[in-house]
Amino acid sequence: MRITVAGAGNVGLVTAVCFAEAGHQVTCLDTQKEKIEMLEKGQSPFFEPGLEPLLEKNLASGKLRFSTNPRQAYRDAEIIFIAVGTPEKKDGSVDLSYIYIASYHIAENIENDVIVCTKSTVPVGTNEIIKQIFQNRKPRHLKVDVVSNPEFLREGSAIMDFYLGDRIVIGADNPEAASIMEQLYLPLKIPIVVTDIKSAEMIKYASNAFLATKISFINEIANLCEKVGANIEEVCYGMGMDKRIGANYLQPGVGYGGSCFPKDTKALVQLAGNVQHPFELLESVIKVNQHQHSLLVRKAKEMFGSLKGKKAAVLGLAFKPETDDVREAVSLTIIKELLEEGSMVTAYDPIAIPNAHKLIGNSIEYTTNIHEALKEADFAVIATEWDQIKHLPLDAYIAYMKEPIIFDGRNCYALKDIQRYPITYVSIGRPTIL
Ligand code: NAD
Repeated sequence: MRITVAGAGNVGLVTAVCFAEAGHQVTCLDTQKEKIEMLEKGQSPFFEPGLEPLLEKNLASGKLRFSTNPRQAYRDAEIIFIAVGTPEKKDGSVDLSYIYIASYHIAENIENDVIVCTKSTVPVGTNEIIKQIFQNRKPRHLKVDVVSNPEFLREGSAIMDFYLGDRIVIGADNPEAASIMEQLYLPLKIPIVVTDIKSAEMIKYASNAFLATKISFINEIANLCEKVGANIEEVCYGMGMDKRIGANYLQPGVGYGGSCFPKDTKALVQLAGNVQHPFELLESVIKVNQHQHSLLVRKAKEMFGSLKGKKAAVLGLAFKPETDDVREAVSLTIIKELLEEGSMVTAYDPIAIPNAHKLIGNSIEYTTNIHEALKEADFAVIATEWDQIKHLPLDAYIAYMKEPIIFDGRNCYALKDIQRYPITYVSIGRPTIL
C-alpha cells in the first residue's frame, strides 16, 4: 500500500521504516528540515537499536522516502499515520496543536480517498475532533476514514516491539476501514483488538497509567521494606510468581520518567477532572513518583549532612537504557537537586550526553568514560541501568573514587557481590551495606 507517516520521531520513523521493510511504499514527512536531510542520508536523528540498518536498506531499495512537503507526501496516500508529538502543556493537559496542524495539512493536500490513522497518544474524544476537521476541510468528493491506532512501542526495543508487540489496537467506526487496517497488520501475527474509537484511545492511557501505578506501588513497598527490614528483591520475586500480578514492571527504583508515562498519567488525571471524576489513585501514583525522584539525594544528604562542595558522579542520563532520550529523565531531577545542594556533578552516559547538554548546558561536566566520572568523586548516583554500569567491575569504584560510596537508584548490583568489597552501598528497598 502507499503509506504516509506524519512525524519522523521515535514512533513515526520506526513505523515508516518497518512498514517499508514489510514491502509497502512509504513516505515519512516531518516539518523539521534538518531531520529530513539527515534521514535522506540514511542517518537516524536519534538512537534506536537496529533502526539505522533498516533505514539505509529501505532508502536504497526506494521503498522509503522522506519529505517536508505535505502535498508530495499526502497527495496519493492510501493510509496516513499521524505520529506527531503530543507534549504536555504547563497545566498537565495535552498540547494537540501538532495533531490538528497535521490534520489540516492532510485535508488540504489529499487527492484520493484515504484512511487517517492516529498513532499519537491523544485524549479520548480527539479523533472526533479530527473527524470534524476533515468534514470541514477536505475536498467534498473525497472520503476520509479516521481510525485510532495507538502505539505501544518502547524506546530501546522499538523495532522488536513492532514485530513482536503484545497487541495491536484498532479503533474504528467504519468496519471497512477497520478491516483494511487489520489486513495491513495481519502479516505480523500479533493479536488485533478491533474496537470503537473512544475505547481505543482509552486503552492507551489506561495501559500507561496502569504500568505507572505498578511502578509507584512497588516503589512504595520498597520504601516500606527499608523501614521494616525486608528486602524488596525477595518480595518482588515472591509477588511476581503470581500470574495475576506478573514480574514485569515490578522493579523498584527512583521512579519512572521518559516521554510517555509522566505526560500520559497527568493527561488522564486532567481528562478525568474534565468530566468531574477526580482520579485520586492516579494522582497519588504521580505524587509517589515525584517523591521517589528525590529519594537518593535525600539519602545522600542524610549520610553526608551537607552535599555542599561534594563531587558527585551521576551514572546514566538517558531515561532508560538503549536510548539517547532524556525527556523527563530522572537523572535530570537528581542533577538539579544536587546542584541546588551545592554539589559538583560529573555525568556519565554512553550516548545521551548531546541531548542532556541541550537541556542542562554547562552546569555540569560530562563524560562517556565511566572511570573519568568516578575519578575523585565523593559519591556515585546510579540513575540509569545501562549494561556498561551494571557490568562495571566493582573495584573500579574503589580504584577511582575518593571513597567508594554508591547510591544505586536501579538496584544494579546483587548485595552478595557488594558485600565482598569495602563499598558503602545504598539501594532501593534493600538493606544498606556499610
Ligand atoms: P517525537 O517528538 O519524537 O516526534 C514527533 C515528530 O513530529 C517531530 O519530529 C516533529 O518535528 C514532527 N511533527 C510535528 N508536527 C508535524 C507535522 N505537522 N507534520 C509532520 N511532522 C510533524 O515524538 P514521539 O516520541 O515519536 O511520539 C509521538 C507520539 O507517539 C506522541 O503522542 C507520544 O505520546 C506517542 N508515543 C510515543 C512513544 C515513545 O516511546 N516515544 C511510545 C508510544 C506512543
